Amino acid sequence: MEKNKNHCEELITSISEYVDGSINPQLCLELEKHLSECDNCRVVVNTLKKTIDIYRQQSAREKMPSDVKNRLLARLHLEDYRE
Ligand SMILES: [Zn+2]
Repeated sequence: MEKNKNHCEELITSISEYVDGSINPQLCLELEKHLSECDNCRVVVNTLKKTIDIYRQQSAREKMPSDVKNRLLARLHLEDYRE
C-alpha cells in the first residue's frame, strides 16, 4: 500500500517530538489517527519509544550514587567491578 507514503514521511519527521511529548497537540492528534491506520509508522514509534526507555533507564543508573552501586555490585558478587 503506497497511498500513505508521503504522509508517512511527513509524520516520521515529527515522531521524535511525539515520543518525547514536545509535539503540538493538533499534530499529535493527526499523528495518532495516522498511527491507528498505519502499521509502518506504529512500528517506528514503538521502536523509538523502546530505545528512549532504555536510554532513560541507563541514564538513571548512571546517576545512582557510587556507594549504592558498589553495595549492589558486592551483593551480586561483582566486587571486581567496583569503582
Ligand atoms: Zn504511516
